[in-house]
Amino acid sequence: MDFELTPEQKRLQERSLELAADFATRATLHDREASHPLENYQRLREEGYLELSVPKEWGGLGASFLTHTIAFEALGQGCPSTALSFNMHASMVGPLLESDEVTASAKRHLADLVIGERKLIAGNFSEATHTALIGERPLGARSKRVKDGYSLTGRKMFASMLDAADYCAVLTYPEGATHPMAGMIHLVPAVAAGRRSNANWDTLGMRATRSDSLILEECWVPENALVFHSNDIRPWRVAYLNWFWGSYSAVYLGIAVAAYKEVIKVLHERQPPGYSQPLAYHPDVRRRVAEMSADLEAARLITYRSAWLSDREGPTPETTAALYRAKYAVGEATARITRTALTLGGAHAIFKGSRLEQLFRDGALAPIQPPQSDFCLLNMAIYELGLDPDDMLPPMKTV
Ligand SMILES: Cc1cc2nc3c(=O)[nH]c(=O)nc-3n(C[C@H](O)[C@H](O)[C@H](O)COP(=O)(O)OP(=O)(O)OC[C@H]3O[C@@H](n4cnc5c(N)ncnc54)[C@H](O)[C@@H]3O)c2cc1C
Repeated sequence: MDFELTPEQKRLQERSLELAADFATRATLHDREASHPLENYQRLREEGYLELSVPKEWGGLGASFLTHTIAFEALGQGCPSTALSFNMHASMVGPLLESDEVTASAKRHLADLVIGERKLIAGNFSEATHTALIGERPLGARSKRVKDGYSLTGRKMFASMLDAADYCAVLTYPEGATHPMAGMIHLVPAVAAGRRSNANWDTLGMRATRSDSLILEECWVPENALVFHSNDIRPWRVAYLNWFWGSYSAVYLGIAVAAYKEVIKVLHERQPPGYSQPLAYHPDVRRRVAEMSADLEAARLITYRSAWLSDREGPTPETTAALYRAKYAVGEATARITRTALTLGGAHAIFKGSRLEQLFRDGALAPIQPPQSDFCLLNMAIYELGLDPDDMLPPMKTV
């Protein structure tokens, strides 16, 4: 395994870092206002990030999952919310364009929108009643076949960049289906009769993702809005776990990198009167920085390896476990690193507008962002112990 970046990856990493530096200048404002970073999305659109990981056969740049990981680790260092939201586009478009379960005409339609019309796609699977604690997520939102299209009704939740994206790929339960895990995904345009949003995303961190709730009341979409239909969506979810869930790891890794870089800057800048050296020389400070460095590098290498494995082997059980391991390692490391960085910054760092304060709040979401740390551990344990999930007892009593 060789983790030396190719010249192409290095160029993309540098370009992503340049963009991140620009995004960082507006990150505080968007965080404070919990506003959509529209100008950042536009910049990413112009710079080719809409099609970065779109397969070449559909007109994209065909970046591998590892290349995507490197780019989004860099972007996450500027405005984490921008990177996380924009990543939702890749995490939806990738599985739809790569899967054999998606028809060629649905792929053509999606590629025309993304490549031809440069449309940004959000994704909404989650609902208020969902919990990964019970291992299943029954869908309340329904799709019904009507004349010349579909009618969608239900309440969805947590849709990043919902009102900023051109379309939202919405998961619903097809009316009349018999399997409990059946699902349909429709591309719902930003403006559609029967579609509205509830702007309830006033959160601790990742505020500018504006992951608001989507309300659908007999929202009509045409036939070609249907881009995915399966009687059991689980195999698709597992096959594309890299995009669906693994791709968030890179963004949260970027938060840890940003906090690490920022605290080093702060420690070099703060020099108490009467001393010839800045706080960076204090032995306790040095030790904490060394610990952060080890934590960060371990999380980065685990993440790169999981992405490398995903590109090399596809969705094998080993890859799946590696992706969960990476999210777990990144989630925990990012929460620790951002907290240590805030601690080292001290009371000087806790003011609104301080980068360490914002990164601490954004970093606090790292273990909570699905797949949550506990969920990752559950799945890693199943793999490591060679257990059959069907043989495991349900965690709670049903009614
Ligand atoms: C910043 C952000 C952006 C998001 N963007 C989107 C989006 O664009 N589209 C979308 O559809 N959704 C999005 N989501 C929602 C997300 O995908 C989840 O659906 C939602 O967070 C689930 O809610 P929960 O974490 O409260 O649920 P729960 O699954 O109930 O988790 C709560 C806690 O329970 C524990 N837990 C969970 N599962 C297990 C388990 N199996 N074993 C042991 N313990 C467990 C963990 O400690 C976890 O933190 C986003 C979430 C966040 C935080």
